[in-house]
Amino acid sequence: MSAAAAAVAREERRLTELDSAIGDADHGGNLRRGFTAVLAALDEEKPAAPGAVLALAGRRLISTVGGASGPLYGTLLRRTGKALGDTAGVDVLRLRDALREGVDAVARLGSAARGDKTMLDALYPAVEALDGSAGSFRAARTAAEEGAAATVPMRARRGRASYLGERSVGHQDPGATSAALLFATLAETADT
Ligand code: ADP
Ligand code: MG
Ligand code: MG
Repeated sequence: MSAAAAAVAREERRLTELDSAIGDADHGGNLRRGFTAVLAALDEEKPAAPGAVLALAGRRLISTVGGASGPLYGTLLRRTGKALGDTAGVDVLRLRDALREGVDAVARLGSAARGDKTMLDALYPAVEALDGSAGSFRAARTAAEEGAAATVPMRARRGRASYLGERSVGHQDPGATSAALLFATLAETADT
């Protein structure tokens, strides 16, 4: 979570620039504010188990981020954390299974599917790459980055960008970009 907060702070401007093209220019700020609040909450409550860390982080994102990405990323972390349970040791395959549940919960909450030009276009390929590579976060990172790049020619069907219709084509989705950033952080942190 600290690495994620640092990455989001570092990339805040780029995420906001992408959101200014097809949204309301707040995605970088939304996530920076959210992850700053996550770090404060973790510092205060100091949950021990990885699942509890993710669940608390998710709740905090939901309560501090007003934009769509708050409830969506919040649900991703909360559901992933819940799936991990209170076990102390988490290996890559357990995390993969939990993440799959988290991503499915995001799709349900946002009534979105692959190809709608959202964060799911990076999240689904990442989870599938974890399946196909016996849990390599490097493979997940590459798949998420390719998934984010593949949103450029898509027409948005969910979220604010969908109001633009055809004019959303030709821009990379901000949420898919931040999802790839989070998987890059996971790959660097887990080093596997
Ligand atoms: P807002 O659009 O409310 O300002 P953000 O700018 O923080 O929120 O986040 C926008 C991102 O949220 C989009 O780029 C997209 O990836 C994601 N998003 C928006 N709506 C949905 C949805 N229904 N399902 C999945 N992801 C979504
Ligand atoms: Mg926005
Ligand atoms: Mg907004």
